[in-house]
Formats: sequence, structure tokens, C-alpha cells
Amino acid sequence: KQNHSIEEIAKQLMAARSVILFPHIQMDGDALGSCAALCKALRCAGKEAVILTEDEVPEYLSFLDQGYCTMDSEAIHQPDVCMCVDCGEVVRFPKREKKFFQGKITICLDHHTTSTPFADYNFIDGSIAATAELVYKVIKAMGIPIDKEIGEAIFTGISTDTGNFQYSNATKESHLITADLYDAGIDHAKVAVQLYQNTRLEKIRITNRILDTLELFGGGKAAIAYVSQEMLRQVGAELSETEGVVETVRNVKGVEIGAFVKEQDGGRIKVSMRAKTTGNVAEIAAKFGGGGHVKAAGCTLYTNLQEACESVKEAIEESLKIKD
Ligand code: 5GP
Ligand code: MN
Ligand code: MN
Repeated sequence: KQNHSIEEIAKQLMAARSVILFPHIQMDGDALGSCAALCKALRCAGKEAVILTEDEVPEYLSFLDQGYCTMDSEAIHQPDVCMCVDCGEVVRFPKREKKFFQGKITICLDHHTTSTPFADYNFIDGSIAATAELVYKVIKAMGIPIDKEIGEAIFTGISTDTGNFQYSNATKESHLITADLYDAGIDHAKVAVQLYQNTRLEKIRITNRILDTLELFGGGKAAIAYVSQEMLRQVGAELSETEGVVETVRNVKGVEIGAFVKEQDGGRIKVSMRAKTTGNVAEIAAKFGGGGHVKAAGCTLYTNLQEACESVKEAIEESLKIKD
């Protein structure tokens, strides 16, 4: 299957009467921000639209959900369009896969290098910093004005996926789109407080516990930390509140690759990895059946916490050796 144009995707959305949007599991600011912007735009155009999720909206992103999110797959019975956003593989929405293919038309809008076109209409561009930038273009192509709320949702996606404009994925285009959002009336400082300065004390506490596990390896070029269900219970934190920890692990001076290993409810192990400059964590994640971007990737392991840490360390050391 091939990529289509932004215009073609906009046309398909405008022709639809009902649309279900699918963010990836464990949604982040880009997945939910992109979906919220599209959902509001579609509703402004008089369409029935919802965001179908398979987990709760994390608290730090709850401001984006202005009555859009549902976990009821029958919220729209026979949707004209089902559209996955910020994900390009069915494993990224496992519990909703069946519903997705009930769409008369399926669309995929994504920016992961490891995604391959699988929907009826696809726009996947691994060179774009955030799916929210693609959403901006789709909404423009639909001819729907970008209001404050849509603008703040798009801003959330761009800000969170670029590390607030720090990472190498941020481009002139990211800034130009953001500049245009100011004309839509966004309050970037208010959104920044929501995203970055609204931290539950339990999140700070679990971060402390996790950073106590931080260990350097690979001659100081790599670092790893972990969290267990027991640690979360002791502190009263949610696993979703460990968002951001892997960046801290990567931030250690001299570290090129940072990994964060998470014991999920039910025993599966989720791994998040980040590279600083030359590392390629998408490659490492792919070895375990995962994927993502060159500098931010993840995978799931079906083993215990300790063995997962060992396997991940081994794979990272291997990857660093090849780069040397
Ligand atoms: P995070 O570490 O924040 O969960 O994810 C980092 C990046 O890797 C995100 O772009 C995310 O979509 C991608 N990613 C994380 N886990 C997986 C996975 O299991 N499979 C794939 N294909 N991508 C993943
Ligand atoms: Mn994402
Ligand atoms: Mn993204």
C-alpha cells in the first residue's frame, strides 16, 4: 500500500458523516492532542466524531478531553471512517482492532518510521516531528478554521513530541505551525503549566524511587532504570505517571542511550528507550518486536522485570559496540 496526500485524507474526512479516532495505547500528548484537534474540527464541520480509547486519559492531558473520549466501542455503531492517529500498526490499538476495521473507510495518519501503510488511506511521514503537525495540515485542507481549543491541542502534540522544541526532530515547520497557532489565540503558557507544572506529589515520589534504581553500563554510555508494580503501590502512583522518567535517564552526562523498564499490571514488561545524538533506539526496539523513532522507541517483553533489564542491557551494549 502507498501513501496518499493530505488533501485526499481531508477529502475523505469531509465526505464522512461519522468518524471514530483511534489514538495509540497509553496515549501521549501527541496522540491525544492530535485526536482532540481532529475531533473538535470534525464536530465543527457538523460530523459525529468521538475518540475511542482503551485506557483512561492520563490526568496531565485531561484538559484536552472536552467530552470527546469514550471507551464504548459502540458510541458510533457503523462509522463511515475509522482513523488511527499517531500510530501505524494494529498492535498499537490491540483491544480496538476489530472496531477499527468496521469503518467503511480506514485512514492512518502517523509519523513513525517503523509504520507501514495498512489502511485504505495512509499518510505516514517519519520526518515530521509530531502527528499534530499533520493534523494541522489536514484541518487546513478541510477548510475548517483553527480555533483556540484546536490550536492548544495541536500545540500540546508538537510541544510534547519535540521535548518542548529541544529535540532534533523539531524543524522550521514545527515553529511556523506553532507561530500560526498563536494567531488562533492559544495560551501557550497556560498549556505549559497543564503539561509541565501540574505534577502530582505521587509522581515526584515515584520518580525519586525509580531514579534510585538508575545504573550506568556500556562504559557510561548507557543508563537503565526500572519500576515495579510493588514500587507503584508503595507510593500510590500510576504507571502513566512515570512518563518523562526515561528522558531523565537519557539526560545523564555522557549517556547516549537511556532505557526505562516498566512492569505493567498483569506482568508484561514495557520498555521505553531514548537516544541523545548518534544512537538508534528504533533499531533496538525492533529487535524485540517494537518500534518508534530513531531517538525515541519502545517495545514490550513477555518476561520478568529482572530478565527484561538484562536483555535490554545486552541489546543496547551490542548496538553501542556497532556504533563505536
Ligand atoms: P514511549 O517510550 O514514550 O512509550 O514511546 C516512544 C516512541 O516509541 C513513541 O513514538 C511510541 O509510539 C513508540 N513505541 C513505544 N512502544 C512501542 C511498541 O511497543 N511498538 C511500536 N511499534 N512503537 C512503540
Ligand atoms: Mn505518541
Ligand atoms: Mn507522535
